Amino acid sequence: MEKRLFVNKEQLENIVKEFPTPFHLYDEKGIRERARALQKAFAWNPGFREYFAVKATPNPFILKILQEEGCGVDCSSLTELMMAEACGFSGADIMFSSNDTPAEDFRYARKLNATINLDDLTHVDFLKKVASVPRLISCRLNPGGYFSIANNIMDNPGDAKYGFTKEQMMEGYRRLMELGAEEFGIHAFLASNTTTNDYYPTLARILFQFAVELKEKTGAHISFVNLSGGVGIPYRPDQEPVDIAQVGEGVRRAYEEILVPAGMGGVAIYTELGRYMLGPNGCLVTTAIHEKHIYKEYIGLDACAANLMRPAMYGAYHHITVMGKENAPCDHKYDVTGGLCENNDKFAVDRMLPKIDIGDLVVLHDTGAHGFAMGYNYNGKLRSAEVLLCEDGSAKLIRRAETPKDYFATFDFTGLFDRY
Ligand SMILES: *Cc1c(COP(=O)(O)O)cnc(C)c1O
Repeated sequence: MEKRLFVNKEQLENIVKEFPTPFHLYDEKGIRERARALQKAFAWNPGFREYFAVKATPNPFILKILQEEGCGVDCSSLTELMMAEACGFSGADIMFSSNDTPAEDFRYARKLNATINLDDLTHVDFLKKVASVPRLISCRLNPGGYFSIANNIMDNPGDAKYGFTKEQMMEGYRRLMELGAEEFGIHAFLASNTTTNDYYPTLARILFQFAVELKEKTGAHISFVNLSGGVGIPYRPDQEPVDIAQVGEGVRRAYEEILVPAGMGGVAIYTELGRYMLGPNGCLVTTAIHEKHIYKEYIGLDACAANLMRPAMYGAYHHITVMGKENAPCDHKYDVTGGLCENNDKFAVDRMLPKIDIGDLVVLHDTGAHGFAMGYNYNGKLRSAEVLLCEDGSAKLIRRAETPKDYFATFDFTGLFDRY
């Protein structure tokens, strides 16, 4: 499938006049459309709610858009909880799915009355000790072994650090009931960036069956099943997008077959999607600043892995559009790089692209989730701005770029530079 950007050359040239590259650009219209499509796909479940995974795109303006669309937020740390609170999320609007959780984070989550999703059996008593056990609480399942869909191994939960074993889940819910909990959720995240329509339905079957078993063995009242994140996006042109309506329908069938006959037809379905919601609704806008001809041909951008880590970290593919050259032949083979002193700072290796000239706007697709968010300051590189392409076509700065002052903000220079 042809990869198309949500913005054209003329629009982008206007935006760049106001906000210099590099920056991440987000598409308000696309975000709202995805939120609505997801809700439509799960409209059969009256309690359905998406808790957007804040870590994917931790920007208050993005969270407010999702809030207007009826979403809650899934937080995993103290500062994400603080951002959620500042945006006006509270109580049942907030899922707290963390791991290796500091006491302070649990205390803050309890203060907000967020729905806590415990990652480990030992966290039951830890939570009791450092804060208190709420009336409604969730636990994260790790069924171990391999997770397969139609004989294809999708991932290896047995090697993942997350969640309780099945036996620990039983014990955990019993212990939580002793400590006063009355209502429960079940959560699992078994494979990341899946582009098959069968991921959620397969996961739902596992969790629904487990919910029935849990109810029978412990008497726990299960009020929600949280399918978490993991629905992927087509980063590559040859990948098909997930059909979210099909996904919702597949989960509905599992629900009708497993939960309804067990008298559990009131269970709410929750999701914690990050990548699916935001990934395609963001791009990294850069300018080609250098070309280099040695043993290979290089194009140097004004962005680097500090602005988008996925290619360097996972060898991830991000599609590239050279603005204005969308229909030009891809007859040049380039490594497209950033300026870190790290040879893996390459956005693309041996990529066939149109001839790139200095000053061309080079746009990396699908950076709306886990893009800016994974940024860092190695080599003293500064984080970029984030810009929102609003529904009315205007562009709004939703986070300014870092300046050297931000980079130095955690030093106390008192006295040191007095002579300069
Ligand atoms: C990262 C994460 C998500 C979001 O994952 P995506 O792949 O972006 O959908 C959801 N829930 C939890 C607990 C996570 O850690």
